[in-house]
Amino acid sequence: MTLSRLTENLTALGEKPFRAKQMYQWMHEKLAGGFEEMTNLSGQLREKCALKYTYTMPEVVQVQESQIDGTKKFLFRLADGNVVESVWMKYKHGNSVCISSQVGCRMGCRFCASTLGGLERSLLPSEMLEQVYSIQRITGERVSNVVVMGIGEPLDNYENLLTFLEILTDENGLNISQRSVTVSTCGIVPRMRQLADEKLQITLALSLHGTTDEKRRRLMPIANKYSIDELMEACAYYFKQTGRRITFEYSLVGGVNDSEEDAEQLAALARPLVCHVNLIPVNPVRERGYTDPTGMQVRAFRERLEKNKVNVTVRREMGRDIDGACGQLRNRYAGTVKAGDDNAPDR
Ligand code: SAH
Repeated sequence: MTLSRLTENLTALGEKPFRAKQMYQWMHEKLAGGFEEMTNLSGQLREKCALKYTYTMPEVVQVQESQIDGTKKFLFRLADGNVVESVWMKYKHGNSVCISSQVGCRMGCRFCASTLGGLERSLLPSEMLEQVYSIQRITGERVSNVVVMGIGEPLDNYENLLTFLEILTDENGLNISQRSVTVSTCGIVPRMRQLADEKLQITLALSLHGTTDEKRRRLMPIANKYSIDELMEACAYYFKQTGRRITFEYSLVGGVNDSEEDAEQLAALARPLVCHVNLIPVNPVRERGYTDPTGMQVRAFRERLEKNKVNVTVRREMGRDIDGACGQLRNRYAGTVKAGDDNAPDR
């Protein structure tokens, strides 16, 4: 619940509004594990709430730590038994958490592991927040950046995403700056425009991955619905409404979208916009059969973009030794428990 909804709920129970603020701060700032920890609220109120509301924290099923860069990957079990994964990355400028927005995904991108089993359900705002909160509690270190780039398509869970963003960036909660939050989409054009109209200061990242409609369709079924022209117009509109530079994510797939011609076409798309290109050497997923380009090909692709005055970075690969790419850990977990384990998730 946002603070205003919590206030409505508690005043309906006969409580003063400041009690709602206290409870909200316990949940979202002090990251309390349950009502019993909220020591400045009366025992009576805590009991009343425990009867009326559920207070959940996800259960940590597995933590993997990269021996290469300290990246940690968490597998969480939700109250209904479904599992999602989140990644904690340590950078010089602070700690970043990548969260999931859905259990599974229905977008069907061909190189992505998250979509292999389809969509189970969308996550609640609380289930998105809890990934960040649990990780901050476990690591004992402040989370300064949040990226919604884990399992799921955030703009396919729009209302819950907005509530999540409101609470995450609220000054009575973790107070993470909107500018430190990135939402990544495969390109659902009407939702991108709707998000632009919210006029938030978050970064919108577009998973482009192909520079022509034909090429993009080969990798991403969503490209059958929205054309690159429509996408570019939506990006320009996002910048117009928010003043925020767009990020293009471009996963380089060996022999599929990494040619010189691709780089030239990408530059032509990027130049008219205020944007930044993030190249991601594709993380090979066993079930998918795509291969990553060589280091030399990545460098050549980047240099060609730079020659065309495009702002470009190559994503530092983190946690490759721990199945760092979207959906890999959850899939492997589902694979291992399928064979008759009682703890198997409900899918
Ligand atoms: N549904 C959202 C966010 C989740 S994926 C979206 O599509 O943007 C986050 C990013 O990782 C996307 O750009 C996605 O295309 C990319 N990605 C997924 N699987 C990948 C893989 N195996 N290798 C490299 N990038 C991958």
